[in-house]
Amino acid sequence: MAQQPSGYLEGIQSVRDLPIENKRVFLRVDFNVPLDGGTITDDSRIREALPTIKHVLDRGARLVLASHLGRPKPGKTPGAGVSEETKKALTLEPAGARLAELLGVEVRLPEDCIGDAAKKVVYDLRAGQVCLLENLRFHAEEEKDDEAFAKQLAELADVYVDDAFGAVHRAHASVHALAKLYRERGCGFLLEKEIAALGKLVTGPETPYVAVLGGAKVSDKIAVVESLLQQANALLIGGAMANTFLAAKGVDMKASKIEGDKLALARTILEKARDRNVDVVLPVDVVVANSIEAREGKTCDVSAIPDGAMALDIGPKSVAEFAKRFRGAKTIFWNGPMGLFEKAPFAAGTFGLAKAMAESGAFTVVGGGDSAAAVHAAGGGLAAKMSHISTGGGASLELIEGKKLPGIEVLRTGAAPRAGQGG
Ligand code: ADP
Ligand code: MG
Repeated sequence: MAQQPSGYLEGIQSVRDLPIENKRVFLRVDFNVPLDGGTITDDSRIREALPTIKHVLDRGARLVLASHLGRPKPGKTPGAGVSEETKKALTLEPAGARLAELLGVEVRLPEDCIGDAAKKVVYDLRAGQVCLLENLRFHAEEEKDDEAFAKQLAELADVYVDDAFGAVHRAHASVHALAKLYRERGCGFLLEKEIAALGKLVTGPETPYVAVLGGAKVSDKIAVVESLLQQANALLIGGAMANTFLAAKGVDMKASKIEGDKLALARTILEKARDRNVDVVLPVDVVVANSIEAREGKTCDVSAIPDGAMALDIGPKSVAEFAKRFRGAKTIFWNGPMGLFEKAPFAAGTFGLAKAMAESGAFTVVGGGDSAAAVHAAGGGLAAKMSHISTGGGASLELIEGKKLPGIEVLRTGAAPRAGQGG
């Protein structure tokens, strides 16, 4: 028996230790790639799944890959499935073609993920061969965590492996009902890395633990703030989120985006932080402009925002204040850009923070889709210097919130499989 992992991974088998030789392996991946008229505009999700895919193939397994793609609308006739038009727009064919290129092997594509079409292709696979099932969401049962649908999927393989971190916060059939049917089930390398890194933040991060929050809205992040108040020693707030906190403290934010209905909530959060001795740090200066289309911004103290101007980034003094909190920190978690980083005049705060974080020497974790994009956009090799950049937006935040994620919990040894199904 392989050594059982501890911490948040406890009770979850790694694909490294599962008996997969000569077996048919169902591998749930996240091939939900951005498409522009049938062309993949960013294939990172496919490339990130390669280590697990290669491992499974090297061990002589027959590989059955499955993923969802987009949000196919249900067809007009109940039970009839999605329209031909939707099938064409959201087929996994381009993902299969890209995977075949990257792997240098043929990837077979059955026209459905269940039934005779799938079975025919899957049962013909030989050791080391690959097929990619068609979009799981072409069946409405996927999102309903439907057991009968899961049983049909289970007929295709002997071992279940999940490597789709971006999907584990949803109780959908391919990540939940299906996993339950298998005795031999576990996580792929990508999922394992996500659980290990993010799990550390919830099960006892090394202190001092500094959390940085930013992004567009306070309302998106309330649950995360609440849980960070329990865990972190310091909470640094930037981005549009900081506008609402500054306004709650009586600062005149002029034309800045604030959430007027969240001022009381922001005050409550600040009080709770004081009670728990959490050091909350807000920006002292900001980069302002009269429009988000402005070619350049102007830096000013938060107390001196000109009439008609809005805060679109944190200023250099704020970056320095935030960076000061990183010195000596053992753990840093960051979610949410410090400003409108997509526009060059308002990117310096976010990039400066990313640099300070990457160079801090702490265990550093970045979560959130836009935050991850910001670290990559910052360049300078910063992405490689972070301990972990999560690939799952919603899933990473829910994990940090301390929620039990259905697709992770179901993989634990304690969650007993039903008799007579799967491996
Ligand atoms: P993540 O995806 O990392 O969780 P969010 O989705 O919460 O992050 O927020 C990202 C968005 O917030 C970005 O598109 C960024 O432009 C925007 N944003 C951050 N600060 C500001 C600001 N001061 N004004 C306008 N937009 C902002
Ligand atoms: Mg986002």
